[in-house]
Amino acid sequence: MTVTHAPVLVTGASGFIASHIVGQLLARGYRVRGTVRSLKKEKDLAPLRALPGADERLELVEADLLTPGAYDGPAAGCEYVLHTASPYTLEAKDPQRDLVDPAVGGTRHVLAACKRAGTVKRVVLTSSMAAITDEPEGDHVLTEDDWNDKSTLDRNPYYLSKTLAERAAWAFVDEEAPPFDLVVINPFLVIGPSVGPGLNTSNQLFVDLLAGTYPGVMSLTFAFVDVRDVADAHVRAMETPSARGRYICAGAAVPMRELVQIVSDAGWGPGHKLPQLGMDCAAGDFAVKLSSYLQPKGVGTYLRTHVGRVPRYDTSKIERELGISFRPPAESIRAALDDMARWGHVSEKQA
Ligand code: NDP
Repeated sequence: MTVTHAPVLVTGASGFIASHIVGQLLARGYRVRGTVRSLKKEKDLAPLRALPGADERLELVEADLLTPGAYDGPAAGCEYVLHTASPYTLEAKDPQRDLVDPAVGGTRHVLAACKRAGTVKRVVLTSSMAAITDEPEGDHVLTEDDWNDKSTLDRNPYYLSKTLAERAAWAFVDEEAPPFDLVVINPFLVIGPSVGPGLNTSNQLFVDLLAGTYPGVMSLTFAFVDVRDVADAHVRAMETPSARGRYICAGAAVPMRELVQIVSDAGWGPGHKLPQLGMDCAAGDFAVKLSSYLQPKGVGTYLRTHVGRVPRYDTSKIERELGISFRPPAESIRAALDDMARWGHVSEKQA
């Protein structure tokens, strides 16, 4: 077991991905300092505080991405900083204010705090596949060399926020030459069990699938990655001295038709409203694109940029350099559903 004296800073510690990172760091013997927006949300923080090792080695402090200097105290004395905090939602009233400003400003504030701390050796940033592509394109196989240059405040604004935040991080390192290096993790759609009671935006897919929100099986293909593998990738990126640059972090891609089959095979068919009508054809794509204009703006642009497209991507860098092997999607899907029933996000499956 690794036992360290300098705490590892994890921003947004109560988030879906971050709380798994915190759990894995504690299990490996690290001291962890986690930032949260409010220490008053005791109910949300209780599962973090209940993690094995948390009593002795987890400290929670408040910090908001929008406040300059807020991370100076948290970063003080740390050698490793894992910056995960960023708003994650497809729908935002004011995308500049609600998504871009906290994502980009927050990244700059965290990196500036790390530089001022003088003790930080490495920052691991949670970026996203959203910073690599706005929409899957033909047969092009995405690699770490690809950058999303299509998203705007009107088109996939969450994707824009992640792209600009990652670009701001690399620009900071180029311009400020801080005494730390930067390693970036770019996960696709993160699913799986949750440490806390909140429902993550990505697991919402399963709620919608069971609730009959989808009128039919659409030609959407999801590139899933298990939240436990994403957390592992962050810890390995932190611990592997030779880790460099960006890492695409994704398991296998699953078409909606296969997803529905996996969910049904796992026993979630009866009593739920899984889509049945086959819309994964040219006519279905046309109907989905047409009706996407009736959806909220964020969902509508997501549908128009993803329906009928299959993401292709190369994960050999993360497998080779960080030694990650991804869980099969069916295992993550089953774990997500069982866990969501435990938290009451979906009704129990019928035996
Ligand atoms: P969560 O919504 O669970 O976590 C987001 C975290 O960011 C929360 O802890 C939240 O704090 C914090 N946060 C948001 N706004 C602020 C703010 N103004 N000041 C301080 N903290 C803030 O989502 P995930 O765990 O899924 O996301 C974590 C990271 O992973 C994000 O950077 C996201 O973009 C990225 N990502 C997620 C993917 C996914 O499929 N889930 C895929 C690819 C990347 P609070 O708890 O107070 O709201």
